[in-house]
Amino acid sequence: MEPTRSEFLFMGLPHKVAFYTLMAAAVGVLAWQVRDRFRLWMTGRPIGWKSDWLGNFGRYVLGQRKVRTSRPKSGAPMHLLIFYGFLTLFIGTTLLAINTYSPWKFHKGTYYLVYEFTLDIMGLALLVGLLWALARRAFAKPKSLISSVSDFWTLVLLLALTVTGFFLEAFRMAAVPKPFDVSAPVGHWIAQMLPPISAPAYIGLWWFHAILVAVFIAVLPQLRLRHILYAMLSTAGAPPDPMGALPKVSIEEVEETGRIGAQKAEHYTRWHLLSLDACMECGRCTEVCPANGVGKTLDPRQVVQGIRGILGTDGEIAAAVTEEALWACTTCSACVEVCPVMIRHVDLIVDARRFLAAEGKLAGSAANLLRQLQSTESAWGTPASEREAWMEGHDVPLVRDLVSRGETFDVLLWVGCAGVSDRNAMGVNRAFVKLLKKAGVRFACLGKEERCTGDPARRIGDEFLYQQFAEMNIQTFEQYGVKAIVTACPHCFNTIRNEYPQFEGNYEVYHTSQFLAKLIEEGKLRAPHPEDGSVTLHDPCYLARVNNEADAPRRALGAESNLNEHTTPIDRWLHSPMNGGTKIAEPERRAQKTLCCGAGGGRMWMEDPPDKRPSDRRVQELLDTGASRIAVACPFCHIMLEAGMQKVAPESGVEIVDIVRLVEEANA
Ligand code: SF4
Ligand code: SF4
Repeated sequence: MEPTRSEFLFMGLPHKVAFYTLMAAAVGVLAWQVRDRFRLWMTGRPIGWKSDWLGNFGRYVLGQRKVRTSRPKSGAPMHLLIFYGFLTLFIGTTLLAINTYSPWKFHKGTYYLVYEFTLDIMGLALLVGLLWALARRAFAKPKSLISSVSDFWTLVLLLALTVTGFFLEAFRMAAVPKPFDVSAPVGHWIAQMLPPISAPAYIGLWWFHAILVAVFIAVLPQLRLRHILYAMLSTAGAPPDPMGALPKVSIEEVEETGRIGAQKAEHYTRWHLLSLDACMECGRCTEVCPANGVGKTLDPRQVVQGIRGILGTDGEIAAAVTEEALWACTTCSACVEVCPVMIRHVDLIVDARRFLAAEGKLAGSAANLLRQLQSTESAWGTPASEREAWMEGHDVPLVRDLVSRGETFDVLLWVGCAGVSDRNAMGVNRAFVKLLKKAGVRFACLGKEERCTGDPARRIGDEFLYQQFAEMNIQTFEQYGVKAIVTACPHCFNTIRNEYPQFEGNYEVYHTSQFLAKLIEEGKLRAPHPEDGSVTLHDPCYLARVNNEADAPRRALGAESNLNEHTTPIDRWLHSPMNGGTKIAEPERRAQKTLCCGAGGGRMWMEDPPDKRPSDRRVQELLDTGASRIAVACPFCHIMLEAGMQKVAPESGVEIVDIVRLVEEANA
């Protein structure tokens, strides 16, 4: 007897007609609800990008990359069991439908046996995942998870579907046993325990299962599980821009709409609106938010849900989210990095800030920053005439001098506003100059021709002030034929690397740690190799997370690489202990999961109440490593952590020092 089975066992035409009517009604209810949401998404701005639909679908939907790499240990395996279990059963049902309604009758023989076995095992995986999810909500209750009654009913519905599916299989085997039933081990095991099953009993259970399926389909858009539908769409259509690139606003757009930024939900793009529906309210974003962590009102999950709540209404974003919350964001992108469905919270927040800034809602020190930028072209208010003070007596080559002598240079050292104003940052740039000379690098600085990149203006919400800076800087780069740029500031690094291409400014951009790591690997400089555990490293958000560069600072220190899911196998080998890496004392949150110092997104220039400073929390984490030195790789982090240290442990004697200074020491 060839292994196979017939569909609609014991059931004639009336059953079939009733079943198809029920399913058509359920799918109709689903489609009607999705159509309503679709209409709301379409009220948004058109999408101006081409997505890698197939690649994103493969990586983030089928491969579940974000879930695997960003969720806590307890959540990821549970979600993977449910997702792959559900997906396999869905594919199995689709194959069955193809076999039943097409001329291809492949549901037999060895294929059938493999099919039965796979579906049984993956059904079991789904069952385990669902029980795990139920226990997690009922007993473990992680802080980040909000559980409503409907969440429990959803899980109960899914469990009922899975269990009745197994029993239906077992009933079939008990009613009409076949020698190959053992290929579905779970169903076969249950069947062994059942008495002989009559046709009416089988039909009764069959209908119960079918009604559960219909209910599930019809209510799906009302449940948190709607992300099954919407997350697939939003993930596949996610913008291809790097995490560090904010969407550009064009002057034509402003002329057309008479508005800068987003006042209401429909002022976001259609994709951003769709992504709001994909939110499963898992709370991971809130859990990692540095502002929320110190008790500020900003809650990225609420940002998403608040905006979703006003979609299709006259509600304003600033009221749904609150202005205070919008200004509290450091744009650290921890929420974006961790979100399993690729929501871009920073885009949402900055676009809302743009509207508030244009409406003159910016006051206090942040408004001063913008005035300062306009008058001095420096975030620190340092006039151009003082931009060369830090280099006095250090013989720093200037681009204008080299060009006037007909000489060339290979790389532009971009000093940044902190680098010409802040005592520590000036020292870092002087140390870097020394190292570049020692390594024989042909470099030059712009001196008084350099100005702010515009990053703080853009992130605070003054898009057109940012664009002015971007265009003027690009003009300077083009005038001098700049091809490569190196900078100690991750904020400058990010905006020149990821955002200047929006204005046709394309350069090879390096952070000092990348440049030093390269010079060390070429044998032109020595790495510090600090004693094991004596140094800890604070990864800057805009380097490690936003630009996925956590290895270079470690390589520059001569330390073992931070091994995590982002590390390539080659990096793993190159920086393994057998290759001479020393061990730095790693804080709990490091590399792409680093904790923000609180300075990004213009927060450097805004006041924080003394009990709500993200830097204090970060300093404590770094002190907990027991290291005697904290290595930093960003002038903003340096300033914030120094202030935090003064408050948290002024007598600790723990020194905060830039990686460049550590490399300088090793090459003295
Ligand atoms: S925005 Fe993303 S991380 Fe935050 S709750 Fe929603 S799905 Fe979870
Ligand atoms: S970017 Fe950072 S500060 Fe802003 S909402 Fe996300 S996690 Fe919070």
